[in-house]
Amino acid sequence: MTELLLKNADTVLTMDDDRRELSAVNIRLRDGVITEIGTDLETSGETLSARGCVVTPGLVNTHHHLYQSLTRAVPGGQDALLFGWLQTLYPIWSRFGPEEMFVSAQIGLAELALSGCTLSSDHLYLYPNGARLDDTIAAAREIGLRFHPTRGSMSIGESDGGLPPDSLVAREADILEDCIRVVDAFHDSSEGAMVRVGIAPCSPFSVSRELMRDAALLARDKKVMLHTHLAENDEDIRYSQEKFGCRPGQYAEDLGWTGPDVWHAHCVKLDDREIRLFADSGTGVAHCPCSNCRLGSGIAPVRAMRDARVKVGLGVDGSASNDAGNLVLEARQSMLLQRVANGADAMSAREALEIATRGGADVLNRPDCGRLAVGKRADIALWDVSGVESAGSWDPAAVLLAGPTRVKHLFVEGRQVVKDSHIATIDLPRVIERQNRLARKLQS
Ligand SMILES: [Zn+2]
Repeated sequence: MTELLLKNADTVLTMDDDRRELSAVNIRLRDGVITEIGTDLETSGETLSARGCVVTPGLVNTHHHLYQSLTRAVPGGQDALLFGWLQTLYPIWSRFGPEEMFVSAQIGLAELALSGCTLSSDHLYLYPNGARLDDTIAAAREIGLRFHPTRGSMSIGESDGGLPPDSLVAREADILEDCIRVVDAFHDSSEGAMVRVGIAPCSPFSVSRELMRDAALLARDKKVMLHTHLAENDEDIRYSQEKFGCRPGQYAEDLGWTGPDVWHAHCVKLDDREIRLFADSGTGVAHCPCSNCRLGSGIAPVRAMRDARVKVGLGVDGSASNDAGNLVLEARQSMLLQRVANGADAMSAREALEIATRGGADVLNRPDCGRLAVGKRADIALWDVSGVESAGSWDPAAVLLAGPTRVKHLFVEGRQVVKDSHIATIDLPRVIERQNRLARKLQS
């Protein structure tokens, strides 16, 4: 049995069913689970002072392409729209291999952890030169984040009228076979699972209608989740109408891509009917505000989605289109963007934090995460509000308005991943060095 007592937290934002905010409390973590929250708790095990800290559930990232941390701020892609941006980057990504996938995943996950993230999904949809989903799972295991990798894919190359070069697409039969392999090898459906695998064709413009349908059938057979990009910008809507004769929501519905086991990234351009469809079917959304700003895609109708009771989580998206992977800043950006679109009372700091924690956990079907309550997993972020960013704040618990952008301590399944604002599980300076070496090689 391992036990840790977090002592005397200034404020705990529980995000529990009553959204309780507790003052001067202790939290007991035992064997990966929260076993007690209260005052005057004692332990014969370890203790950690949480004085001067706001404690929140670990943040949940519902959309990422970790491999892209090796292609941040690529000059040719800095100012392009989505399709042109992709065409700049595809040839660079085609030179990746297993080492690039492993190292870039560690960098991406470390950056997330330092910004308070305890659970991340990932969408890996290209597998050049022997790269495998296994490479990213190994990276997550080492760093200690809870991980929901999705086996992505692209099957329609340039010669078939698709966007990616032929060298980055695969045969659909091979894609499905590898989906089965990784689900059988890594997916853990049990409560408290550290790894869950999903199936995730890249987007309606890079795979066939048949693969979308077959992926949905396979996911239901294996009882795993489905994920893709949808309705990202105007080009995307136009493509859908020209190619499929319908809007993306209709396309998704026709092919079995709605339901509580499905979540779509972006959804910037969902219309009212599609929002209703998502709400009625329990389909989730990964909202990626910085990426949407970076690519000029627009402002997702998150206020309307939340009002309609659509499940919404946050995603930093890949580091080629953000280019940061800081999840707490992403939460702040989501709050600000909804205010730009709908007025200053459109989203509170606490609601944005709820989307970043509980909201994301619900999108990923993880009711055991994203809230601090007895029986939930011990995935916890401690934010130091005694520093310069919070000095003078009348409401230090409003961390998205005035608070640190780097976490002080972070626990995943009760294990300390960030300690005193540094990664405790891997030698991060060495990984950064390795990443920069690989980036230089890709540039040469
Ligand atoms: Zn994406």
